[in-house]
Amino acid sequence: MIEDLLRRLGIHDGHSGVWAGSWIDQPGGELIPSINPSTGEPIASIVGASIADYDRAVDRSLDAFRRWRTVPPPHRGEIVRLIGNALREHKDDLGLLVSLEVGKVRSEGLGEVQEMIDMADFAVGLSRQLYGLTIATERPDHRMFEQWLPLGPVGIITAFNFPVAVWAWNAMIAAVCGNSMIWKPSPQAPLTSLAVQHLVNQILSKTEYDGVFNLAVGGAELGARMADDERLPLVSATGSVAMGKAIAPRIAGRLGRSLLELGGNNGIIVTPRANLDLALRAVAFAAVGTAGQRCTTLRRLIIHESIAEGFVDRLAAAYRSFPIGNPWDEGVLVGPLISEAAVAAMLRAVEAAEAQGGEVICGGRRVDRPGFFVEPTLIRARADMPIVRQETFAPILYVMTYADLDEAIALHNSVAEGLSSAIFTDDLREAERFLSAKGSDCGIANVNIGTSGAEIGGAFGGEKATGGGREAGSDSWKAYMRRQTCTVNSGSSLPLAQGVQFPIAP
Ligand code: NAD
Repeated sequence: MIEDLLRRLGIHDGHSGVWAGSWIDQPGGELIPSINPSTGEPIASIVGASIADYDRAVDRSLDAFRRWRTVPPPHRGEIVRLIGNALREHKDDLGLLVSLEVGKVRSEGLGEVQEMIDMADFAVGLSRQLYGLTIATERPDHRMFEQWLPLGPVGIITAFNFPVAVWAWNAMIAAVCGNSMIWKPSPQAPLTSLAVQHLVNQILSKTEYDGVFNLAVGGAELGARMADDERLPLVSATGSVAMGKAIAPRIAGRLGRSLLELGGNNGIIVTPRANLDLALRAVAFAAVGTAGQRCTTLRRLIIHESIAEGFVDRLAAAYRSFPIGNPWDEGVLVGPLISEAAVAAMLRAVEAAEAQGGEVICGGRRVDRPGFFVEPTLIRARADMPIVRQETFAPILYVMTYADLDEAIALHNSVAEGLSSAIFTDDLREAERFLSAKGSDCGIANVNIGTSGAEIGGAFGGEKATGGGREAGSDSWKAYMRRQTCTVNSGSSLPLAQGVQFPIAP
């Protein structure tokens, strides 16, 4: 089955991890295994890109950029449209590969590919909407306006848990903005990146723009090289806060731009005025979906003390009933964690929570079967427990109670990260308080919707230690372009701004 899948996606053999456009280098990097987290067995090995391979790929992307930047944006959109069509055509196979390589259940694997398609559609429309402003000028016969121009090759570093959607958030937008790009995927998901790059290459190689999209598979050392690489005016990096802290100073040190999409420690407040059935479903999906491996996964439930007991009992019953298993089997809702290290990190967090006074309500153990499966876990906790302030990338939900809404919001905002947040209430005053300047300090704030599962139309990203970047929809495209303020004098005098006089004898 796996061989057939890889064959259908055109990456069965003979493909290495560095592609500068459709040109495949003979890579000199390390052998990177792709492991199936549902079995712990290798699926394939990919020869990664060495630093020298990467350097050659960036040279080719620079060369492609010089051609691509002059293409009218709606024509760039036409190329992105073809990419979107190819993704549509291969949606089932790509979705299956995502399930296979990172363990997402079937509908989430397909959803990830749909997100790429949605991004392509969005970018096609955007290619006719890269608007600048016309600005009133104080000088007669002058016109002032701003325009947005391409930046150059963009570095894209992605995390394992959205192995292809995050690439699309960046790549589709960067492309219509006139940039070329080089993608460094997570070494834990090399196959999905090869499959997507291969589809893109099939389209681009028939055009004169081969080399706009490039791939270099490797680990942190390649990411570090990208951070230092002066040929990349922008590095967009998705991953842990630790990764962001490692690369941000390097990019800043060369006065480059970074777009950081880092970790989250997301909370939901459930008030006594909430529709509790709705809240229960939302909490369950947000905390357990993707086996707790989303940046927007719910990690802290802050619930009013008057309703906590009944709600937690119902939640625990739901937790005990979740089908855990092979992610591409029908009906399974919880797949594996990504690796043995992730299982160990989860078990360490459960142990730490207990040592700090937390009480495991349900779950907390490894599932006895091959692969990296764990039980979704509920832990009664206190806000002052240090473990509650850490993002453990696993399905652990800490439950805390509150008495007063201001206290709940303060507790909610007391972590380092500021990605996604939600309140469940039917009370307009409570909802608006949560959305006010005194409310949630996150980049995403929802009412009666869980923390995960954002649509692509909005700008996605978070504040504080989450890094401040915004990607996908709204006006996130502006991060991928340079703004130029232009003033044109069509008169025959030279009036100076602010009434400054500077007479010179002709
Ligand atoms: P990770 O930080 O281990 O790796 C992410 C990427 O950064 C990988 O490509 C990796 O090779 C690279 N990298 C790691 N350390 C680096 C370094 N020192 N220098 C340069 N590159 C480096 O993260 P992960 O385990 O793949 O993904 C999970 C993390 O990503 C979680 O913290 C999650 O919250 C976060 N995440 C955030 C978002 C978001 O949009 N905010 C989306 C997905 C995942």
